[in-house]
Amino acid sequence: MLNTQLANTELFQQAAFIDGAFVQAASCKNIEVRNPANDELIGFVPNCDAHETRQAIDSAQQAQKHWAKRAAIERANILLNWYDLIMSAQEDLACLLTAEQGKPLPEARGEIAYGASFIRWFAEECRRASGQIIPTFQNDKRLLVMRQPIGVVGAITPWNFPNAMITRKVAPALAAGCAVVLKPAAQTPYSALALAVLAQQAGLPAGLFSVVTGDAAPIGNELTSNPIVRKLTFTGSTAVGAKLYAACAPTIKKVSLELGGNAPFIVFDDADIDAAVEGGLIAKFRNNGQTCVCANRIYVQAGIYDAFLQKLTARLAKEKTGNGFEAGVAFGPLIDQAALEKVEEHIADAVAKGAKVELGGKRHQLGGTFFEPTVLSNSLDTMLIAREETFGPVAPIFRFESEEEVIKRANDSEYGLASYFYSKDLARCFRVSEALDYGMVGVNSGIISTEVAPFGGVKLSGIGREGASTGLEEFEELKYVCMGGI
Ligand code: NAP
Repeated sequence: MLNTQLANTELFQQAAFIDGAFVQAASCKNIEVRNPANDELIGFVPNCDAHETRQAIDSAQQAQKHWAKRAAIERANILLNWYDLIMSAQEDLACLLTAEQGKPLPEARGEIAYGASFIRWFAEECRRASGQIIPTFQNDKRLLVMRQPIGVVGAITPWNFPNAMITRKVAPALAAGCAVVLKPAAQTPYSALALAVLAQQAGLPAGLFSVVTGDAAPIGNELTSNPIVRKLTFTGSTAVGAKLYAACAPTIKKVSLELGGNAPFIVFDDADIDAAVEGGLIAKFRNNGQTCVCANRIYVQAGIYDAFLQKLTARLAKEKTGNGFEAGVAFGPLIDQAALEKVEEHIADAVAKGAKVELGGKRHQLGGTFFEPTVLSNSLDTMLIAREETFGPVAPIFRFESEEEVIKRANDSEYGLASYFYSKDLARCFRVSEALDYGMVGVNSGIISTEVAPFGGVKLSGIGREGASTGLEEFEELKYVCMGGI
């Protein structure tokens, strides 16, 4: 079916990409990929294991040695070619993404542009990756600091942003002079493989970017234990991130982890309520609530609680749920049955503890993994929904009285990725931004992600940052050179 939808059918590859070639698994085993909107079979990808992962790592090691020696502008030019090819293929890439992930087509187009923005950004950044000359401690010595690529990188990415979570890692790694072996999520391999097709067309030499599809455990085990891999970069759940972190310890790899969140979204009495409703809708319901920066707990000050609740519910009731390919659809399906059950569990627990369902609250009449956009009032901090990431279209609304109280409640989480608040009081904006124990704060904004700013979390939400100039440093080592006898 996808073949008839794509202008360039070459982008739809049912093969792993290793050392510059599209290949099948040595075991000849395949895994199915299905469309979460209708459970239709999209196609197959090879079930690769440690054998193919080792091949990819070995070819990455060879290719990286030459790549690291290329001038920054040469690397940048190839990355810019890649950026152009992606933007030219935006419609096809969005189509692939919606088919395997379910998000509405306009949102998928947005993700392609967002993903590509990291490639352009790091193409620019690598040309400014200057080292340092440090004032000397002895007159006959000169002290230099060089920034060098770390080498071969293992990358593991999730299904919720099948394109952008890859480019955020691969672009800075390649720009820094590294090579990458990627394991994409099982549900969404085709977006990754399409990126590989375009990278090759852009002139990226073989071996620098391989995509190994297949079961997570054997591939992950090879990426974490193989001493040639010097860095592991992972986006996904905290539980898996913690396992990978431990698995990287024996070979002392550098590690970046972008993990789960439990974002508070705070609306103060002095906020512009309409702006807060719009910001809340975006922060909560983008990708049907399946983003790591999704607002998970919406705290509203007592004076505007009823007004906010009424406006948010009325606004949400207008949005359409359906197949992401249909015009006018704002919310697609959830990724799988387990995601649906988690949402149901959170709602059932909240209702049992006194929450009131203001909108939605049950499976959508469309069936499958579609769920009604839901608003819960009278939410309490003791509910599961306040403690765990829901990863679905449920907005639980909590009431609060004072700034001090809400900061304490907002920070009472083991996670620390994104946070948001709405207020028109400038002093409060500074105070609360400083007090929130999170890696990112959106002030009067429900959208914070951009390639130019450092994205990442604290506590169980991870280590390291993606984007910004820091994103490049994650793939570099500093080398200190002390030159004597001068
Ligand atoms: P997940 O289960 O941790 O999976 C993420 C990736 O890890 C997938 O490629 C998965 O492969 C792989 N994986 C699973 N078990 C593995 C193992 N034992 N060894 C090696 N790899 C393994 O996470 P998810 O449920 O797909 O993604 C949602 C989570 O990601 C949420 O918690 C969300 O907050 C987080 N997330 C964080 C960010 C951020 O930037 N902080 C961004 C997006 C998402 P398979 O698909 O083959 O199982």
